[in-house]
Amino acid sequence: MPFCKGCGHTHVLRKLNEAMLQLQLTPSDIALVTDIGCIGLADMMFVPVHTVHTTHGRSTAFATGIQIADAVLAQSALKTIVLIGDGGAMIGLQHLVNAALLNVDVTVLLCNNFLFGMTGGQNSAFSPNDFITPTTPNGNIIPPIDMCRMMEASGAEFSVRALATQKGLSDTIARAIMHPGFSLVEIVELCTEHATERNDLSGSKLAQVIESQGQRLGDIVIRQTRKSFGTMYAAKNPRKPVPPSLTEKTIVPSFQSTLNEQVGIVLAGSAGERVQSSAKKLCDAAIVSGVYCTQKNDNPVTQGSGFSLSEVILSNEEIFYTAIDVADVAIVVSQDGLTEVKENGLLERMTSSSLLMLDANLAVPETVAMVEQYPYRKEFGGDKAALAAVKAYVRKTGILPEGAL
Ligand code: SF4
Ligand SMILES: [Mg+2]
Repeated sequence: MPFCKGCGHTHVLRKLNEAMLQLQLTPSDIALVTDIGCIGLADMMFVPVHTVHTTHGRSTAFATGIQIADAVLAQSALKTIVLIGDGGAMIGLQHLVNAALLNVDVTVLLCNNFLFGMTGGQNSAFSPNDFITPTTPNGNIIPPIDMCRMMEASGAEFSVRALATQKGLSDTIARAIMHPGFSLVEIVELCTEHATERNDLSGSKLAQVIESQGQRLGDIVIRQTRKSFGTMYAAKNPRKPVPPSLTEKTIVPSFQSTLNEQVGIVLAGSAGERVQSSAKKLCDAAIVSGVYCTQKNDNPVTQGSGFSLSEVILSNEEIFYTAIDVADVAIVVSQDGLTEVKENGLLERMTSSSLLMLDANLAVPETVAMVEQYPYRKEFGGDKAALAAVKAYVRKTGILPEGAL
């Protein structure tokens, strides 16, 4: 375990593992979604299941999306489990409320050790009264959140508070996982690194702390009156069968490529001048020639102004890394495009064997790449310059038959 000696997270992960084994779930039917914080180190302990390590406080939102996608688009076989700390739960409170309101079939294991452990023990919204932390050196004066009751008020039908060390925790977790709808298990535990240093606290005193703040351990609510969001959504929006015409649409290569090795082509110009659609045509030509390709587009948020850029990789092998670090060729047909490839460092990373195909009205930038200029814009107009340059590249290299393009 990657945690400090005596850390409550160790117990929680052991019990979660036991619960998974007890339920005999197929590992590929489990999605474990972890939050930031020490508990987020859990992913690496659960190798056979799907894991997603997310941003701070947002794990419940990611899990909600995963679960709804599975319920609506797939077989609804996935068990989605969130591991979040009290710090994350405080930051992402609305996501928990939303998940409970939706009654999405997600299980949240909230590991409450009363503080932000990973960042030095600062107080959280779960810190007990008088709790001493680096940020509450004279003792906390804000009443701690009662998450179990807050979830109940948000419509949750499974809300339980337990101690990390208590007997039967794995059964509680297993029951939560099998509950058909949102479930929360708040697991009260000890951060041995920060909580015990400044407070008179030990594992055996945790139950007392909970009681002293007017909260209680055990089942806060367990009932089953609501259907889960996924079930209701799927019932209201039945999936239409995919028309045979779509399932049968397969591209059969009808041209032959002469591509020897993978090439990375960057096409850069101005928004609205068909840069990305010209790149798409190059990809289409590659596909009908039996070549693997990827296309990655970029443009400013303004969409209709500024640069427009596409990165296209063509390869005889499957492509698993879709970015172009060093372009074999950069086709630049406008000043917007040139400014962008300068600013994003692409030009600087080109080597002496790279080729820069530049519109003739652009000033040649400082580069070690070979430069070729042609008046694409003047000859073909702004909106056809990119496609004309692509065509020139295909003709020059012969990597794909012109007919395919
Ligand atoms: S800092 Fe606290 S929460 Fe983090 S691993 Fe150590 S004991 Fe556990
Ligand atoms: Mg914590």
